[in-house]
Amino acid sequence: MGEILKFKKKSPKEKHKGKTLCRSGFHKWRVLTEKKFDVKQGKLVTVLECQRCGKREHKLI
Ligand SMILES: [Zn+2]
Repeated sequence: MGEILKFKKKSPKEKHKGKTLCRSGFHKWRVLTEKKFDVKQGKLVTVLECQRCGKREHKLI
């Protein structure tokens, strides 16, 4: 149990820093999938994921 918690948790400092930036709208985006076809929108989109908070965003091309 202890090992798993230790592995999952980031250092408090790092966590706080990330939250502050994410709350301000400065997410650390990375490309999850390039040019994925979004059926709902009927368009090709690039899926971005924030490396800190895990938020995902679809960016239209
Ligand atoms: Zn974020």
